[in-house]
Amino acid sequence: MQKNANVVIIGGGIIGCSVAYELAIRGVKDIVVIEKNYLSSGATGRCGAGVRQQWGTETNAILARDSVKRFEGMNEELEYDKDIEFKQGGYLMVSYTPEEWNQYKKNVAVQHSLGIPTKMITPQEALEIVPHLNLNGLIGATFCQSDGHANPFHVVDAYYKAAKRLGVKFETYTTVTGITLEKGKVTSVQTTRGDINTSLVINACGYAAGTICKMVDFDLPLYPQRHQALVTEPVEPCQGPMVISLHYRLYCQQTPHGSFIMGVGDPNEPKDFNINSSWEFLEDVARQATTVLPLLKNLRVVRQWSGLYDMSPDANPILDKVPGAEGMWVAAGFSGHGFMVAPQTAVLLVQKILEQECFMPIERFSLNRFSGGNLVLESAVV
Ligand code: FAD
Repeated sequence: MQKNANVVIIGGGIIGCSVAYELAIRGVKDIVVIEKNYLSSGATGRCGAGVRQQWGTETNAILARDSVKRFEGMNEELEYDKDIEFKQGGYLMVSYTPEEWNQYKKNVAVQHSLGIPTKMITPQEALEIVPHLNLNGLIGATFCQSDGHANPFHVVDAYYKAAKRLGVKFETYTTVTGITLEKGKVTSVQTTRGDINTSLVINACGYAAGTICKMVDFDLPLYPQRHQALVTEPVEPCQGPMVISLHYRLYCQQTPHGSFIMGVGDPNEPKDFNINSSWEFLEDVARQATTVLPLLKNLRVVRQWSGLYDMSPDANPILDKVPGAEGMWVAAGFSGHGFMVAPQTAVLLVQKILEQECFMPIERFSLNRFSGGNLVLESAVV
């Protein structure tokens, strides 16, 4: 493995790979991405890969809105030899409680102020979009047709190949074990396959970003939290959009080949690195999914898995320098929506690192927002 690099990126998920590409396309040479397993082996390869612009905070909504445009042209932009399978079947966010409906109204006001074309629709209109929806107690729904989903393995593969063509090196099955500072500045990264001298490190380790920050004695305000998902047998296409119910903690989509992918968030999930799959999840997701979408009750489950959300205190990303470690940056805290915002998050971070004009104020993602006392919590996390 090489002994020197201009930039070391730790983590080969969607964030590490997209940041590598955005640096390389701007002419930065000698970049290496270190990944302890294979590319996409973390949250990225375990995610629902939904892409929605229907957020409650302006920050998440802008990143998602602008990333949708990038997903739309990604095959061409990255000259991908396969297909990232970006399908814009829309997102239907259903509401079964007055509190939730009030929150949706506020969220849609934010989205409209940013030009996101979300519609507020009646239960009957929602039924026209998803005919097997449970109308019982449904107050209304919001729908955005340009939301959708993509294939996370292909998106990472597309970034990987484009970055590699631009000269980026990828070292997989290599674990970062330490970071050396001299007079408060980064000088090298230790790995299980040798050390690399560098003055610029980007921590894109998702759920493990806190562990990497501890290597330079910084406590990142972030915790890992297990989220489980499952996939069913494929059936005839019958559901265009992703259906989300915040009240029932459910997201559920039908993939292009007919399988349903779904998950539920568990508010009692402890903060730790556990990624075992559980029976309790199967019962919970079956109950919630068949409440919202009763037709799914006879579907057979093919496989279940779990992955880790990297939760920040306000469910917005952290894109900042690491205090006390000059030359080290962190891009983490994506709180369950890092896949969909990755394309523009990578642009924003790289613009800041290269001291270029940022397309939106990156200060909104700074670490010091947590000490300011006026956090704007994201309300639309499943
Ligand atoms: P990761 O993909 O986790 O990558 C971090 C990488 O760092 C890993 O590959 C890991 O192996 C590597 N690493 C860790 N420690 C070290 C080390 N010491 N040395 C070297 N490498 C190391 N997001 C959406 O936008 N839409 C969704 O529908 C969605 N659904 C989800 C469903 C589930 C079940 C889960 C778990 C997540 C979901 N997410 C979704 C969230 C999304 O997956 C993440 O926000 C996103 O993938 C984060 O990307 P990342 O590159 O930051 O992290």
